Amino acid sequence: MYVVLNKSATSEEILELKRFIQKTGHGALEILDGSVRKIGIMGKKEGLGKEELKKFSIVKDVVKIGKPFKFVSREFKKEDTVIDIKGRKIGGTDLVLMAGPCSVESKEMMMETARVVKANGGEFLRGGAFKPRTSPYDFQGLGEEGLKYMREACDKYNLLMVTEVMDTRDIELIDKYTDIFQVGARNMQNFSLLKELGKTDKPILLKRGLSATIKEFLMAAEYIVAFGNERVILCERGIRTFEVATRNTVDVNGIALLKEKSHLPIIIDASHGTGKRSLVEPVTLGCILAGADGAMVEIHQNPICALSDGEQSLNFEEFEVLCGKLKKTIEFKESLRCL
Ligand code: PEP
Ligand code: MN
Repeated sequence: MYVVLNKSATSEEILELKRFIQKTGHGALEILDGSVRKIGIMGKKEGLGKEELKKFSIVKDVVKIGKPFKFVSREFKKEDTVIDIKGRKIGGTDLVLMAGPCSVESKEMMMETARVVKANGGEFLRGGAFKPRTSPYDFQGLGEEGLKYMREACDKYNLLMVTEVMDTRDIELIDKYTDIFQVGARNMQNFSLLKELGKTDKPILLKRGLSATIKEFLMAAEYIVAFGNERVILCERGIRTFEVATRNTVDVNGIALLKEKSHLPIIIDASHGTGKRSLVEPVTLGCILAGADGAMVEIHQNPICALSDGEQSLNFEEFEVLCGKLKKTIEFKESLRCL
């Protein structure tokens, strides 16, 4: 349920209404949808009816949302959400490019990668310090040491940091370093993790689960919003299908559909989506045209020596070529919007 406020509502009146909603045990999420101010009422329906809300003169309308995912839906917010992080925007028309190695391997590697990301117009450095590996015998990540290297590289090149959190026990530590928490595909339905991240004040990049439906994906996003953090970025990274020729199958339908169903920004990760270096460029570009707001790409100075995911990582030259094409694709996409 949400309320639509009158244009004349003052900030004191809005605060009074929000306090009233909170006193009944509900969360109150205030948003601006275009020029319309709304308050989402989160939690159980009991104890708060339409009539009580309508007693407030600033309440123009009370609307029920007929979807299981409510506050991430277009029903609640018609305008695209643009997430502002230290002045950098995710969503909207800006190019969102997140690149870096699968795993943080050394300080030198992060410095060199950050330089290349910046030089190619990227604003976000990605890299895993806590790695979700299928085999317990594979490289598990450098932990806090890796976070330090990433932070140093981000500060030097004025980039924003995106790194994965796998466990609620690591949130506090990772929070000291990162700008965006990444929730990996394997943890998309780790509800304890989603709830705790809902209590943080940093954006969450939520990757689609290995075999999650669109509805499950949006419900996972809803968890984070319902627990207090509306700054969620969706990430399509391919799903499991019967096809084994590629590591995963990128759901292009899903990208276009998510844009219809949700106001949240969406990023395409064709590195994990395809698992194959040669497919990263065409699939990334295609998904941008299908509606993705930006791309996440794994890159490595020498992919064959990478400690993880080398076969899907672009080398720096390939990355430069992709960036050039990405810029042109975004310009082309903008030109289509005007038709
Ligand atoms: C990653 O981004 O390095 C990663 C492990 O991704 P995913 O969770 O999509 O497999
Ligand atoms: Mn990876």
